[in-house]
Amino acid sequence: MTRRSFLKRLATGALGFVTVLFVQSCGKKEEPAAEKPAAPEMTDEEKQEYVFNNCICGKCPSWVECDEKGGFCLVGKSNCIKEKKGCICPDCPVTKKMGLKWGYYCIEGDAKSLMAAEEMSK
Ligand code: SF4
Ligand code: SF4
Repeated sequence: MTRRSFLKRLATGALGFVTVLFVQSCGKKEEPAAEKPAAPEMTDEEKQEYVFNNCICGKCPSWVECDEKGGFCLVGKSNCIKEKKGCICPDCPVTKKMGLKWGYYCIEGDAKSLMAAEEMSK
């Protein structure tokens, strides 16, 4: 074998090897991302329990101590709180979890009514 033909064979072989690698890598099928199971909807009871367990109304400057347990975004207006002295609803985990965007539910009413009122005014 001449030096020239040896180099030619080497080049052809190397090219073939690279081609095989390329074809193999291109042919690899992407594994489809495993579908996450959809978060099961909370029942009304679970929602209520979640809201009461996570409500931070008791730490709010507008809070008035009486026989209420907060969760005004769900249950609506308070019978005891009448003065707006600040609202910490935006810091509440319920706000994030439920995608709420209002506040002062103790005075303005529950989130559902506020959302409906907003829709009506559009
Ligand atoms: S968003 Fe406000 S009213 Fe609703 S649970 Fe949180 S602190 Fe209480
Ligand atoms: S709804 Fe807002 S303003 Fe009313 S007590 Fe709860 S955190 Fe305070």
